Amino acid sequence: MAVSARLASASIGRRRVLHGIELQLPAGRWCAIVGPNGAGKSTLLRVLAGLLPCDGEVRLLGRPLAGWPAHERARHLAWLGQQEGGAEDLRAWDVAMLGRLPHRAWLAPPSAADRAAVTQALHATQAWALRERRLGELSGGERQRVLLARLLATQAQVALMDEPLAHLDPPHQADWLAAVRALVAAGAAVVSVLHELNMALQADEVLIVRDGRLAHHGASGDAATHRALQAAFDGRVRVHPVQGQWIALPQEASHAD
Ligand code: ADP
Ligand code: MG
Repeated sequence: MAVSARLASASIGRRRVLHGIELQLPAGRWCAIVGPNGAGKSTLLRVLAGLLPCDGEVRLLGRPLAGWPAHERARHLAWLGQQEGGAEDLRAWDVAMLGRLPHRAWLAPPSAADRAAVTQALHATQAWALRERRLGELSGGERQRVLLARLLATQAQVALMDEPLAHLDPPHQADWLAAVRALVAAGAAVVSVLHELNMALQADEVLIVRDGRLAHHGASGDAATHRALQAAFDGRVRVHPVQGQWIALPQEASHAD
């Protein structure tokens, strides 16, 4: 398993946000985490990344998170948070190069492999032309692409992303999808919190979080997953087949079951 978790609870401050979660996410798969606002999706992702402690255990590639030396763990687990701040004065190239830090010895200059990974990542997110610009000067979508490039540059076996499509226009969403498919084809596990249900329905697996609990975990094409998705949003979405894909359409309140 790329990531597995078994926890009784996780809290932010004194507030219990997650309750009784057990999950296993295999390598070479893309899992989308969906659920209503405030359900606990970001909290769950932070627990999986080891950024928030929990009452339980998270394992990365079969080994408890706590058992990994930090530098080594950062090579295997790449993270893209929601509304990440910091690094505003850095150029996009240097931001993407941050993704290579876990591969480098302390204070060592970037190697040819580091530069190649960063170049490839900036191209994959269409951010190559932005490489000399400072992060703080970029639009929301441009910034998101640079942060995605940082994640891709790490070439980690597990990639965790919280609302990676935020601010991305449809062509760049398609680029993101291509990048995810490439990661998965290379054997990585991708876990993404997604707001966009239609994108989530293209993942291999869908994990539905509601009220801090795992309401469902199943294949994106399963009827049970579609029913659980509809229920998680109180019948305010409906999943339909459209041209060989599953599409979630919002329902007017008067039409909800
Ligand atoms: P989601 O990502 O599904 O929208 P979150 O995981 O961010 O939800 O939040 C889950 C719950 O935890 C929400 O009720 C939210 O209000 C609460 N929460 C999130 N961050 C904090 C925080 N820093 N302090 C207190 N409560 C928080
Ligand atoms: Mg969130």
